Amino acid sequence: MAEEVATVDLRALGLAPGAAARMRLSVPPVELRLGGQDYRTDPASPEVDLEVTRALTGLALRLRTTVDLVGPCMRCMEPARVRLEVDASEYAADDPPADDAAFDEDVASVYVEDDQLDLALWARDSIAEVVPVTILCRDDCAGLCPTCGANRNLAPCDCVVEVADSRWEALRELAERLAKEPGTG
Ligand SMILES: [Zn+2]
Ligand SMILES: [Zn+2]
Repeated sequence: MAEEVATVDLRALGLAPGAAARMRLSVPPVELRLGGQDYRTDPASPEVDLEVTRALTGLALRLRTTVDLVGPCMRCMEPARVRLEVDASEYAADDPPADDAAFDEDVASVYVEDDQLDLALWARDSIAEVVPVTILCRDDCAGLCPTCGANRNLAPCDCVVEVADSRWEALRELAERLAKEPGTG
């Protein structure tokens, strides 16, 4: 496996205006904590495609990768895996605004400082950005029984599910009362 790269020296690329450099790099493992559970990338050190293009006033950066995120299913806690497609862009101006100026994301990348690209942080943030709201072992995961904790994907349990909904309860009472009242017709 390729050596992990956390930082890229953009100046060392020595790009002339209009020139571009493309490289495939392995970044350090990404671990995310979601909903109180730990998720990690698989492969552990994701390979990313980094593209650096020299424009007249700065560097255009593009990061792409396809990686799996693995961890517990958010419903049943069994192992789950989700495929993530990352395609992120940044622009790093040659003359970033002074510290006291308002930070402008269009010209200054938070991942570039002194021509050093924090590739590890950028990759981590880009991956975190495309994580779906729910990570499931399968789309129709039945989850755990809230009463006995059994995994409903494996076997149904005998728990009676109490559906407490006051609106239906009110309708039921009304129906019973109508049924008891003597007919008028
Ligand atoms: Zn599940
Ligand atoms: Zn149960």
